[in-house]
This record gives sequence, C-alpha cells and structure tokens, in this order.
Amino acid sequence: MSQLQDNFGRRFHYLRMSVTDVCNFKCGYCLPDGYRPNGKQSFMTLSEIEQLVGAFAEVGTQKIRITGGEPTLRKDFTDIVRAVAANEQVKTIATTTNGYRLQQNAQEWYDAGLRRINVSVDSLDPRMFYQITGENKFDSVMRGIDAALEAGFERVKINAVLLKDLNDKDLPRFLHWIKSTPIDLRFIELMQTGLGEEYFNTHHLAGADIQARLQAEGWQLDQSDVDDGPARNFSHPDYQGRIGLIMPYSPNFCSTCNRLRVSANGKLHLCLFTEQGLDLRDLLQSPAQRPELVERLHAQLRLKKETHFLHQGFTGVTQHLASIGG
Ligand code: SAM
Ligand code: SF4
Repeated sequence: MSQLQDNFGRRFHYLRMSVTDVCNFKCGYCLPDGYRPNGKQSFMTLSEIEQLVGAFAEVGTQKIRITGGEPTLRKDFTDIVRAVAANEQVKTIATTTNGYRLQQNAQEWYDAGLRRINVSVDSLDPRMFYQITGENKFDSVMRGIDAALEAGFERVKINAVLLKDLNDKDLPRFLHWIKSTPIDLRFIELMQTGLGEEYFNTHHLAGADIQARLQAEGWQLDQSDVDDGPARNFSHPDYQGRIGLIMPYSPNFCSTCNRLRVSANGKLHLCLFTEQGLDLRDLLQSPAQRPELVERLHAQLRLKKETHFLHQGFTGVTQHLASIGG
C-alpha cells in the first residue's frame, strides 16, 4: 500500500467526503438564506463513491466521514454507508449531520455500518437554536441524539459553533449536560467564509477566550492522540463528557492536519480554504481506472501547502462550508 503523504511529512488517513451540497437548515454562519442551487447540480453517484472510496483505501485512508450540505438528505444515504463499510481497509465510518433524520434512522444507519456520528447542536435553548439554524427542530434533534446513544454508536459528538452575542451564554448549560452524559462536545471557532464577512465580524469569538474560560473552571488539556487532528481536547474529573476545541486561527493549527476533502461533485480539496479543487470524476467511472486515480492523488498531494491563509483574511474560494462539508 502506498500511503498518501505531503512534502511536509503529514500523512493522510482521513477523508471527509461530501455527498451533497443540499441542506434543509439555514444556519446563519453557513447558508443564511437556505440552499440555493447553482445551475444544474450533479453529485457523485453511489458507483462513483464506491470507486472513490476504493482508491482512497488503497492509499491508506482508514477513516471516512460522510458530510455535506446535509448528507442524510440523500435518499441513498444508507446505501452509501453500506458501500463505505464494505471496504475492509476503512476502519471508521462517521458522519456529520444536523440531526434532522436521526430519530427515525439512527438504528438503520448503525446497522449499515456507521459507527460515529457528529450532530450539530448550536444551542441547548430551543429559541436560540431556532435563531441560529432557522429551523424550529431542537426537540426532534435531541430525541435523535437519544436514539443514536441507544442504537449503540461508538461516539456521539455534538458540534457547536460558539457565537458572540448569540449562544456564548449557553456554555454553562452545555457543561451541565455533559456532567452526567458521556457526550463529546466540540466547540468550533467561527471561520470566515466568502459569504459570511459581516456575520464573522459581528459574531466571531476567539477560541483562546473559550479555552481560558474552560481552564478557569478546571478543565485540563489532554495529551493529543494521532487521531485527534487539529482538535484540542479537554477533560474534567467531575464530568463524564469531554470537550474538543477547534481553533482554526491558532498558531500551528495546520501542522496536525490529517484530512483531505472531496466535494459532492467529486473535486479533491487539499485544504478547506486554499484552492479550487482538482476534478477526480473522470477517473471514477470504472474500477480499471484505479491505478491512474491513485497516481493522481499522489501527484496532487505533493502540491499541498503548509498552511491556510485565514489569518490574512484570505477565505479562498469557499463561499460557505456547505459546499465542502466543514
Ligand atoms: N449539515 C451538517 C451539519 O450541520 O452538521 C454537515 C455539514 S456542516 C457544513 C459541518 C460543520 O461545519 C457543522 O458542524 C457546522 O456547524 C460547521 N460550520 C459550517 N459553517 C461554519 C463556519 N463558517 N465556521 C465554523 N464552522 C462552520
Ligand atoms: Fe446546513 Fe450544516 Fe450548513 Fe447548517 S451548517 S446550513 S445544517 S450544511
């Protein structure tokens, strides 16, 4: 097996694979006006996804996260999970969802092979949840989380983008929740995207401030694990749950980068923010193209840059993260 590696010694075991740009929520930091199709969309088919997964497995990918838009809006979502699970090289199959279909489908997805799930819950106050996501679905998402815990998922993580003057006052509620519930919370620092400059200026909360608040309450930074990627993890002896902080603006954030992304229309992105993406779709049409596809992946990795340029206010071509899965 030929492991994917870049010129800075980073190895890539983790693929975030987007399967649709479509979303039914209107999160203020992502799709404030809802999903608007840009011309005629054609997302990767199940068969193209199988070819993609086969090639990435051959170059050492051990973990695949199915993302979007809202991945579970795909009618063949369970078949996609099954197709990824059928590849023995892939040890971990995860998804990130807004939780809309979770209550109904958690067990079905688990039975198809899904083992980890991240659910976005930006507030534990139903009104604030509605204000941030544009959808009055807090109760059903929370019931979905219970269904996932019952279905037997290895890890249920909750993603929350912490936002100044919106959900930043919810921190105590989040902490109270994980005192006796074994849930991993991930606080994500708001990232500036092409469409979100004003929102960013109004609501950005520095990750370092959140870290300081946690440490003041006795949360301790854990030793990082290879699998963690850029998250900083904290634990506390009095709490069953744990907290991960994703701080894209912190120094060295990129040095632990272990992930690659493929967009729903089959483009490889070496970083969330720095380039247009390289089309892979022409090589996803038959298993006979595998050697050529593997060679293209290796060649592209040699071009990966050392860091993103968010600090300089450069948001690249990423208009919103629904197009590439966050
Ligand atoms: N629809 C699914 C969901 O919301 O979980 C999956 C796709 S969404 C793009 C993946 C993650 O990206 C979510 O946790 C979301 O909160 C996060 N996200 C979206 N836009 C963001 C931004 N501008 N800054 C930080 N995180 C963002
Ligand atoms: Fe949809 Fe997820 Fe973006 Fe919210 S963050 S609008 S749920 S894709």
